[in-house]
Amino acid sequence: MTTKTPILGLNRFEFNDTQSIDTQLASHIRRRHRTQGENSVLFYKQPIEMVSARGTWMTDSYGNRYLDMYNNVPSVGHSHPRVVEAMTQQALLLNTNTRYLFSVLENYSEALLETFPDDLSNIIFTCTGSESNDIALRMARMVTGKQGIIVTENAYHGNTSAVMEVSPSGHKRQQLPPYVKTIAAPDPRTLPMGISLAEKFAEDVRQAALSLESAGYGSAALLVDTIFSSDGVFADPVGFLAGAVEVIHQFGGVFIADEVQPGFGRTGSHYWCFQRHGIVPDIVTLGKPMGNGYPMSAVITRPDILATFNDETEYFNTFGGNPVAAAVGMSVLNVIKDEGLLENASRNGLYLREGLSCIARDCTSISAIRGAGLFNGVEFTCPEAGGPDTPLVQTTINRLRDEGVLIGAAGTFGNILKIRSPLCFSQEDADFFLDKLGRVLKGLRPT
Ligand code: PMP
Repeated sequence: MTTKTPILGLNRFEFNDTQSIDTQLASHIRRRHRTQGENSVLFYKQPIEMVSARGTWMTDSYGNRYLDMYNNVPSVGHSHPRVVEAMTQQALLLNTNTRYLFSVLENYSEALLETFPDDLSNIIFTCTGSESNDIALRMARMVTGKQGIIVTENAYHGNTSAVMEVSPSGHKRQQLPPYVKTIAAPDPRTLPMGISLAEKFAEDVRQAALSLESAGYGSAALLVDTIFSSDGVFADPVGFLAGAVEVIHQFGGVFIADEVQPGFGRTGSHYWCFQRHGIVPDIVTLGKPMGNGYPMSAVITRPDILATFNDETEYFNTFGGNPVAAAVGMSVLNVIKDEGLLENASRNGLYLREGLSCIARDCTSISAIRGAGLFNGVEFTCPEAGGPDTPLVQTTINRLRDEGVLIGAAGTFGNILKIRSPLCFSQEDADFFLDKLGRVLKGLRPT
């Protein structure tokens, strides 16, 4: 199967798939659909009613436990006691909008900005990754006076009207507007002879920028998820983004690094994935792991860009940067530091990839293993026909669920297992997962 699947269509429960759903679960699903509509996405052929979670493990309403190999939101671990404590204490004390002074927010802003290169010294608080990217697009257009945006073919950047326009993987039918140009994902296997990935990616940006220029839009920004998650997880070789950033600057545009997925140490070697490439973006957007589940996000940029934004528009966000968000965000930073989670992501990410390589030796369907730290992808290709093996990935995901492992898919055709556990992932967790994956794959394919 080589049809493109919208990102929310991957591993999605279809309601006519009711054959083996027990009555209690079926009635719960119906209740949800009555209020939220059938488009309210549930994972798995057999959806799960979740009741609790701690660390890397989750528990459903039947008491079954699952190793969470998917979730980069509760990044320092589900229901981390220090994060919960910080949230509770601040909520007991004060929670209000940001039109007052409270030092917890200044402390947090300074601590977070410390993790960025010096030039990126300003911050705006938001509540979701979509909101952050929406503001980043507005900033880019304001500072450049241009309209065009360049993104990758299967990018996802969020769900506001403006951000959906630059999220091809979120579309079922909608066409991209003429001022949005897509470029191929940075897949090292598609290179012409003698061309490096950095050169190919930069050239693709140049062609897109030329076409935006000749259409009269110009290039306001190159916007990429720095781990290219929805495109199928492309992390290497380190440094390949640098040429593309130079090109967008030559065309008068800015570079926006979407760190909503790989940020906060997930890739192990650095706090931010863009740092692996030795570049300094003009604008960085943050989200998901920032509050370990508390909805908070931010836009980080240079003072000159923030000044232009402030000249052009008022900005106020009722919930963004509230005292509870600040207290939670600070506790997340402290846990990352105190528990050595970057080192853990590097060490156990490597251990995981080594284990995956061992499985791949016996499984001819695995055509690539890639990633950095605890953000990894395993690609499945039909050994006979050569195309993406999406059905194998879908079956593997559902079998792993039955074996107590939660995992998702990525890529244009959904043929990449996306492995993205909380950062407190241990070697024992890795052994558990590798054992289950090895067994499931053995049961599904002749080795
Ligand atoms: N950017 C990327 C790369 C994402 O993956 C997502 C969400 N999946 C977003 C932005 C949007 O974040 P949110 O869902 O918090 O609006």
